[in-house]
Amino acid sequence: MRASTGYVGRFAPSPTGALHAGSLVAALASWLDARAHGGRWLVRIEDVDAPRCVPGAGEHILAQLAACGLVADAVPVWQSSRSALYEAALLRLTDSGWAYPCGCTRTDIEQALRAQGHMRPRHHELVYPGTCRNGLQGKPARATRLLATASPSQPHGALLIGWHDRRLGSLQQDVTNAVGDFVLRRADGLWAYQLAVVVDDAAQGVTHVVRGEDLADNTPRQIHLQHCLGHATPTYLHTPLVLGANGEKLSKQNGAQALALDQPLKTLADTGVALGLQVEGANVVHWLATAVEAWRGRWPA
Ligand code: GLU
Repeated sequence: MRASTGYVGRFAPSPTGALHAGSLVAALASWLDARAHGGRWLVRIEDVDAPRCVPGAGEHILAQLAACGLVADAVPVWQSSRSALYEAALLRLTDSGWAYPCGCTRTDIEQALRAQGHMRPRHHELVYPGTCRNGLQGKPARATRLLATASPSQPHGALLIGWHDRRLGSLQQDVTNAVGDFVLRRADGLWAYQLAVVVDDAAQGVTHVVRGEDLADNTPRQIHLQHCLGHATPTYLHTPLVLGANGEKLSKQNGAQALALDQPLKTLADTGVALGLQVEGANVVHWLATAVEAWRGRWPA
């Protein structure tokens, strides 16, 4: 294990396919930031959403990272083996009045929103109107939700979360009105990303989160959950997205190519450009060492 300054960073890919040019940006940025701070860098395979995971993708991602010289400072953890941690956190949230069972189907939610005169789909998600806050009213429990309010005893005020991102600056979200009470455990029994990521970042002592900008919108929910569980809030840096030919974020869905492992130096150089780094190196180790120097001062913590 390397000497550490207390900084702990991580890369947390979902194994829904191989790494592509966009996902390597977050991996490289999180590695560079950890090294530039003399810290540790962890890898966590986020395989809680089993139906979306591709067999073998987690191992392939680790091989792609290794080909680029990015090797974690501890054995990578797999979320699928950490259910007991998520269960314990959910119990604490339920016992403290923050979490409650919800019996609503999507149709129930749509009907309730229509009755209130506002359907507000947001990224295809509906803002939960709080129907089951006061009990299931005879419906069977499906999901478990977290109150998006300032306190469990005052469920009527809005929850305003302000936070600072090292690249995006000061941001704010009214979680109550933008998202509503959000899901911690899904109706199909699977753990929600929000719960798993907050529990794991805390359990692994993560002090600095560096990830793609597409995830920035989740941060206020995660900060709220950290507050509810009594965890410290890490420092956040959301990295620029790589856009595909259609101008949208490069993703497996819009045809991003899996990264080939045969030209890691070229792959690293291209990824560095996406982060604003013009770095040359004789080999992978040299390129990475030069990039760590170039990274210092970029979006300071
Ligand atoms: N597993 C998430 C993803 O691949 C990233 C989680 C995170 O970095 O917080 O999109």
